[in-house]
Amino acid sequence: MAEETTPKPEVGASGRKIIYDKDGKPCRSCNTLLDFQMVTGKIAKPAVKDTYREDPPDVEKLGNSSWTFIHALCSKYPENPTPEDKSEINGFFNVLSRMYPCTWCADDFKKYLKEHPLDNKDNEGLNKWLCGAHNEVNKKLGKKEFDCDLWKKRWRDGWD
Ligand code: FAD
Repeated sequence: MAEETTPKPEVGASGRKIIYDKDGKPCRSCNTLLDFQMVTGKIAKPAVKDTYREDPPDVEKLGNSSWTFIHALCSKYPENPTPEDKSEINGFFNVLSRMYPCTWCADDFKKYLKEHPLDNKDNEGLNKWLCGAHNEVNKKLGKKEFDCDLWKKRWRDGWD
């Protein structure tokens, strides 16, 4: 019978050293499950992705990341905002509507902002307004509307 020539991996997908038992087999309880599965051939070695070399965001990635940031930011808007808070949130949305990198998205958003002035009176008001603004884009793209009564669960408190 031919001798096995493939060298045994020394390092696993997790970056940890692979531990072998005395019989030369990978030790199940000494390695992470991912590494164990990898060295025993149960899963392919995951390709290491160089995130620094990703391509610039397209409209989907930019949109998803932006909404995440915007909803997360607004979820922390004060219950009792000061005049400065109000002025700064107005400024934030003005900049967004002028400089959002997807220019036609920005133009429509600017129009929406003009026709539906943002509600900066308190946390609930701002987040309901934002939910409505996001739903307007969802509608335009033929997507399902989000139930705005659930904004806190999605963006602040989490689901049960
Ligand atoms: P997204 O719409 O990015 O939503 C992300 C997550 O937010 C969802 O998974 C959901 O959990 C939650 N969510 C969805 N709706 C709501 C809501 N109403 N309230 C609270 N949470 C919600 N794309 C275009 O093609 N054309 C445009 O004109 C356009 N305009 C945009 C304007 C702005 C200001 C922004 C930020 C993005 C715009 N986009 C536009 C991008 C588009 O809205 C989506 O982000 C993109 O299509 C990716 O969609 P998605 O399925 O990942 O979910």
